[in-house]
Amino acid sequence: MRLCSFLSDGLTHVGVVDADDSVIDITRLSGSHTDDLPLTMSGWVELGINGIERLRQICEQNGSDHVVGKVGDLELVAPMGRLPRNVICVGVNYREHIEESERAVGEIEVPDVPVYFTKDVRSICGPFDDIASDDRISTQLDWEVELAVIIGRGGRGIRSVDALEHVFGYAVLNDVSARDVQLSRNQWWKGKSIEGSSPLGPFVVTRDEIPDPQDLELRCWVDGVEKQRSRTNLMIHDVAALISDLSRTLTLEPGDVISTGTPAGVGLARTPQEWLRPGSVLESEITGLGRQRNRIIELGE
Ligand code: MG
Repeated sequence: MRLCSFLSDGLTHVGVVDADDSVIDITRLSGSHTDDLPLTMSGWVELGINGIERLRQICEQNGSDHVVGKVGDLELVAPMGRLPRNVICVGVNYREHIEESERAVGEIEVPDVPVYFTKDVRSICGPFDDIASDDRISTQLDWEVELAVIIGRGGRGIRSVDALEHVFGYAVLNDVSARDVQLSRNQWWKGKSIEGSSPLGPFVVTRDEIPDPQDLELRCWVDGVEKQRSRTNLMIHDVAALISDLSRTLTLEPGDVISTGTPAGVGLARTPQEWLRPGSVLESEITGLGRQRNRIIELGE
């Protein structure tokens, strides 16, 4: 199933998007249901695989009574709401991206184990939101299309072979990065956490529809010009390995987002370097997960 979150009368509703792009309003359907069903995406994610099955059931039973229109006519917001539980990111997880980064900034010491950092949850924005640029903060906003994994069943000590069973679904995330802030601080959190800079969505696609997360194409465009095009099979540490590794030291929780790193083609590594500027249009897409589109605007515009 493709799930989305959209605004209706000022409130965030959960939607299931049908093959013909019509949207069933799950929040309204849940509210009218005699069972105690979740009203938010987080609530459904916490039900894990049982939530996916229950959603499918209620859509089959009386989804057609709650169609609110086509997805293109709705105001979509970040699918996990404004504040997902946690956004754990993986750095340097594609060989070609490491090589291009080394050409740009010099040798990078890449350990055999995954490199993690977090994005503050306030950096997440909706899949079609404007992204504000402020030259007083950064003149080097860069793009990084990535596969994001949404955990549905938490756990500690998850084995790689079981790891994908802990996934609720997948989404597109652009790990927009203020390079001047990121690289001047010796720590990436601040430059990766500009408020409202990093679009998530448009959909969370449940894991039953993505049999192999290592067989997806990622693409990113700026002003219609393709900047990144790669495949998830080129990740150094795959989704299962990341879940397993993270859960060795930390209990993963439903709603945690793991962003799995970006392939080559970022602006930092181009000659000359390229940055997102007010007026730029950023588009990011992964096979089956939809395409997000964000305009860069001047702060206060
Ligand atoms: Mg990244």
